[in-house]
Amino acid sequence: MKITNNTFRDKVLDLSVNGIYVYDLTKGINVYVNQQYTSLTGYSLNELNEMTQEQFFGLFHPDEQEMIAKHMEEVVSSELGQVIEIEYRFKKADGSWMWCLSRDAIFDRDKDEMPTQFMGTFIDITARKSIEKKLKAKNKELEEFAYIAAHDLQAPLNTIISVAELFNLQYKGVLDESGSQFLGFISDASMRMTDLIRGLLDYSRIGRGKKLTWVDCNTVVNNVLDDLRAVINKTNANIEIGELPQLAGYETELRLLFQNLISNAIKFRKPSANPCIQVAAKKGNSHWMLSFKDNGIGIPEEYKEQIFNIFQRLHSQSEYKGTGIGLAHCRKIVELHNGEIWVESQRYIGSTFYLTIPDTKPCLKN
Ligand code: ADP
Repeated sequence: MKITNNTFRDKVLDLSVNGIYVYDLTKGINVYVNQQYTSLTGYSLNELNEMTQEQFFGLFHPDEQEMIAKHMEEVVSSELGQVIEIEYRFKKADGSWMWCLSRDAIFDRDKDEMPTQFMGTFIDITARKSIEKKLKAKNKELEEFAYIAAHDLQAPLNTIISVAELFNLQYKGVLDESGSQFLGFISDASMRMTDLIRGLLDYSRIGRGKKLTWVDCNTVVNNVLDDLRAVINKTNANIEIGELPQLAGYETELRLLFQNLISNAIKFRKPSANPCIQVAAKKGNSHWMLSFKDNGIGIPEEYKEQIFNIFQRLHSQSEYKGTGIGLAHCRKIVELHNGEIWVESQRYIGSTFYLTIPDTKPCLKN
């Protein structure tokens, strides 16, 4: 493939809303940029070519330098037709930083099939990033509020539990049947509130001050299965685990995520069949997709999104015990990894929970 003089093509390229560039790996310079590239960055092709390679790479934000180097390696070793996406900050000619979303692919190879040029298109996502940042700050504020409220609720609740216990001890013989029953209601409700508050506190703590590490999902899932051994044996559950990826993640959170999904798959089993669960992974373009398939009671179509909300449950405590916080935890953990989670389900046949996690290197900061 070559960049040839073609008026129609040039016009189309220059009219594009994307910035477009062709970088020559042998020369270490851009050999083509379209008009939108210049409008967005402020640099013409000539100005770019007057820079040294060091000056050019100095335009990428220091926090993303390592990631850019890894991305280049990845693009260079990519296969035919493979497109690799990346988000990074780039210093414009006016000195301000622009967040870019780029998609790069090999454009040309030499006769030995070695890549010689790659092509990329990008858009300015600074506004989106700024909204995301503000939303993140707002969310953090709300979580802070939930944390403080939950934390402060614990003390009066503990008092209620202790006083109910004392009352029960001291007045056991004196209370009539309904008196004891009412006291029982107070104890049960307070215990349940303790569980809810604990769940809320855990929810607010997810991802706090954690660091991304290189996590082997096979090890994490095996540890989860060890923890769930008693319930697996008791319910005669058959769990098949496929080959899972290694990815940049928060290990404790991923463990909680897998544990919630597997234990739900066991908990919401059909009375008529032993739980059959399959955990698998599939590689996408720029992410991993993990799936957790069960043969349980399924989820009615109209609740497929609601179940991920905090405290949302579809059953009474007498049917299935729980606080309705497990899937809210799952969603928060997946979002912490910049991924998505959803469910596909057929009632009385089973459910499959899918989640994606970007396939990024551990140095990725955002
Ligand atoms: P909990 O398990 O404490 O009820 P979750 O947040 O984990 O809370 O789940 C919310 C609801 O979603 C559950 O009450 C249940 O109705 C439904 N659910 C979750 N996982 C499954 C599953 N694997 N099969 C069927 N229903 C499920």
